[in-house]
Amino acid sequence: MKITRRFKFFATHRLPEHGGADSFLHRHPFTVEATFEDVPRGQCYLAYSFGEIKMVLESILAEWEDAVLVHEEDKETLDFLQKGPHKYLVFSKPPSTEAMAERLFEIISQVANRELIRVRVYEGPDCWVDVEAP
Ligand SMILES: [Zn+2]
Repeated sequence: MKITRRFKFFATHRLPEHGGADSFLHRHPFTVEATFEDVPRGQCYLAYSFGEIKMVLESILAEWEDAVLVHEEDKETLDFLQKGPHKYLVFSKPPSTEAMAERLFEIISQVANRELIRVRVYEGPDCWVDVEAP
């Protein structure tokens, strides 16, 4: 059985190498869906309760909410962020939606005590990235 919970957060990023408007710092309302595989059990016949998933994802996404996602090689942005009281996360890759989905899959896999089978990150209502368990 597959159980999915959806969360929304805002984050800022830029992709200088992509050119155009993506070169500038800009903010998106991102949506994350985490899907787990488990079997229902117990008196309540629950697999992985939505409440448990909520606790896991909220604890992770608290660090992402309103943060600037910055590539470690984007020295200009990183220098600025390191000087002030700013909320940011440093990525080893350009912080594309693809890189975000990979990172979230890795983190959620480590924190959740259930089998994570997919993370989907929406950059908008009509475009998303899936990272699935091998
Ligand atoms: Zn963007």
